[in-house]
Order: sequence, then C-alpha cells, then structure tokens
Amino acid sequence: MRSAVVVGAGVGGLAVAGALARSGWQVTLLERAERVRPEPTAVVLWPNGVRALQALGLGAGLAAIATPLPDGGVRRPDGHWLVQPRPVPADRMPVVVHREDLHDALIAGLGDRVELRTGVTVRHVRVEPGERPGVSDGRHTIEADLVVAADGTDSGIRRQLAPESRVVSSGCAAWRAVIPWYQAPRLPDDQPMAGEILGAGYRFVAASLGERGSSGGSTRGGIYWVATAAGAPRPEPPETQLALLRRWYAGWPAPVGALLEATDPADLVQQEVRELRPLPRSYGFPVGPGGVVLLGDAAHAMPPHLGQGACLAFEDAATLASLLREARLPDAVQAYDRVRRPRATTVVRQTRRMSAVLQTRGRLALRARDAALGTINSRLLSSAATSAAQWRPPAGPAVRG
Ligand SMILES: Cc1cc2nc3c(=O)[nH]c(=O)nc-3n(C[C@H](O)[C@H](O)[C@H](O)COP(=O)(O)OP(=O)(O)OC[C@H]3O[C@@H](n4cnc5c(N)ncnc54)[C@H](O)[C@@H]3O)c2cc1C
Repeated sequence: MRSAVVVGAGVGGLAVAGALARSGWQVTLLERAERVRPEPTAVVLWPNGVRALQALGLGAGLAAIATPLPDGGVRRPDGHWLVQPRPVPADRMPVVVHREDLHDALIAGLGDRVELRTGVTVRHVRVEPGERPGVSDGRHTIEADLVVAADGTDSGIRRQLAPESRVVSSGCAAWRAVIPWYQAPRLPDDQPMAGEILGAGYRFVAASLGERGSSGGSTRGGIYWVATAAGAPRPEPPETQLALLRRWYAGWPAPVGALLEATDPADLVQQEVRELRPLPRSYGFPVGPGGVVLLGDAAHAMPPHLGQGACLAFEDAATLASLLREARLPDAVQAYDRVRRPRATTVVRQTRRMSAVLQTRGRLALRARDAALGTINSRLLSSAATSAAQWRPPAGPAVRG
C-alpha cells in the first residue's frame, strides 16, 4: 500500500489527507498543535473551491453548511455606490461557511485510514537521492512514498526546499469575527448586509451565515465580518483593538457601526496579512521512488483580498489526488508542479492588483481610483470570478504534459 505523510492539519492538510486515504493510501497526518482546532471565523468559497471540494467527494457535506453569498456591490465610506450590486448566475455565486463547520466536514472525510498525531512539530524533511523521503521531529523519522507539506505560511519544509521564497508583510492587518444570531443587530430590510466598503487603506466586508431563526444552512449561523486596515497588527488586548476599530470605522455606512458594537471582544481574531515573495520555484520535488510537494499556504500564501487561499488549497488537494490516480509517483509529483504553479501565479497576480487598489493613498490618487473603480474593480473581480468559475480538476493529459 502506498503511504503518505501530511504535515499540517489546516484545511489543506485535512483535505488532502482524507482524499489520499479514500484512494487507498496509508496516511499519517502530523500537527504541531495539541488539538486540531479551527479559528471561530468564516471563509468564503468561490466556485473553484466548491468544485474542488466536490471533486474530493465532500460536496454533500459542504452543501449542508454553506450559505450562498450574493453580490453586495462596493460602497465608499460616505455611502456612495462605487459598484452597484449585480445579479450573479448560480454557478458563479460564492458561498460562505463557518470554519468550524468546514473543519467538521473535513474531519468526517478522514475515515479510518488516517493516523492523526498531534503535538508533533516537524523540523526536517529528508530528501536523500535514491531513498524514500521522510520527515523528522528531531527524535523520530517517518518515511513515506510521499510527503505533503501543508504546514502553512511559515512552512519549515518550504524553507528547506525553496529557500528563495520568503514570507513578507503585505502591509496590512485583518480583524474578523462571527456575531452569533442571538447577539446580532436587527437590520432594516432595505439595508444592504453583504458587500464591501472601501476607504483609503481600510476595507470592511460583511456576510450572513445562514438566516436568523432558521435551522437550515450553516449550523453555526450569524453575521461574519472582516475589516482590513493598512499598518501592523495591534499589540493591545482585544477590547482595545475593538475600540480602535470602532474609531477607525466611525461614520462608515450601516451596518458597520452596529456590527462592531455587537461584537464580543472574545470573538475577535486579529492577523497580520502576509504573503510569499517570490513564489517557490517548484511545488514538486521528486525524491528517490517518491517525492515531496508543497500545498496550500505553504506553497502560495497570499493576501485574502480575493478570498482564494483556502480555495487554492482545495484545488491543490483535488489536483494532487487526481494526478496520483493517473500516474506513477515521481511523475505525478512533477505533473503537480507543472499544473499548480501557473495556476497559483495567476491568482497571486490578480490578488496583488487588488492589493494595489486597496492600498491607494492620497486625495488625488483616491479620487482617480474611485472614478475608475467601477471599471477596474469589475474587470479585476470578473477576471478573478471567471478563472474561479472555470477551474476544473485535471484529468489524464496533464500527467503526460
Ligand atoms: C483575514 C483572512 C481572511 C481569509 N479569507 C479567506 C476566504 O474568504 N476564502 C479563502 O479561500 N481563503 C481565505 N483566507 C486564506 C485561508 O485562510 C488560508 O489560505 C488557508 O487557511 C490555508 O490553509 P493551509 O491548510 O494551507 O494552512 P494553515 O491553515 O496555516 O494550516 C497549517 C497547519 O500546519 C501546522 N503546522 C505548521 N508548522 C508545522 C510543523 N512544523 N509541524 C507540524 N505541523 C505544523 C499548523 O499548526 C497548522 O495547523 C483568509 C486568510 C486571512 C488571513
């Protein structure tokens, strides 16, 4: 039986570990944390992410927890519409999912062929010519035919195999929370809930997770919001961070103030936004009869402006599983690199253009941006949405490529 070691039990690691196990692989999943626990926030999945989860056999589980996210347009902090909301065809509409629900669905997909070991920090990957690859925590080495590095933005395996790729700050920090329905403010029917508000270096996005009072849809319902602000993360406690957010976003259109007011500081998640520059030169490293691959943020950490990080991790997992069904191991590892690097490069390029739009500063530059935003933003978003909608897991020919 073929064996794999997956390093990191984030969404990418969980997805690929389950997929390999369902294809008959013996899988060991190593996680440095003592417990595998997701953040208490949510994630937007675009059609590519949804399709990848379907290809991984997790479509039914996802359908039970996902809420469709209609286009909410883009407004300025003074309420002026920069881009009006537009109807979106069902096959292009993203969904929003509570991360804890998604995590439960991914854990349910692990089956009994995955041995999950927590509290194990991988410190070294072994890549000796002619030998099977392996990973070590400094005391024990585990060998396998395939090592999947799904150890996130600070991946030690990537640092070892692709040292040219560095983690850098994207120049902003993000705050997120889910306000459970019982704490969420009631908004007038004519008030937009979903949608984006864009200021100079500041952005606020909100979405509903399920419906108030409904038992269907997401099992952990509420209102999800994300605020992004230029600058570094704040060292103060969550209460002070929330007070700062209320000050920064004071006067922004409803429902921003009401959502910040209703947020419990204990639910606030702050994160520095970081990215890889440049991207690794390779995502696949044949080693002896097997190989090592980089997957998810370990391969292509990027700012969350287009909501594609987790979606790409699921694409990686679905692609790898599909290639491994089609080809012998070292060939599949090379094919994975050939297929995934151009794809990640395209999405990272789109995300960086979005970063430039978001980080516009100065009165004149801002006026020009806002005047052009209808065109720039819709062109950018529509090319991102198109590439998201068009993605399909590969079939045989990619392997021969
Ligand atoms: C503010 C924000 C909003 C976002 N919104 C979206 C969105 O709407 N849609 C979307 O698609 N994406 C979004 N993303 C991106 C998404 O969250 C990430 O791309 C995704 O979680 C990456 O998953 P991963 O499994 O690759 O890495 P991670 O989730 O980072 O998991 C890595 C795992 O590896 C473990 N690990 C690390 N090192 C070791 C080691 N040495 N040994 C053992 N284990 C180790 C870690 O403990 C962790 O559990 C957002 C990101 C941010 C910051």
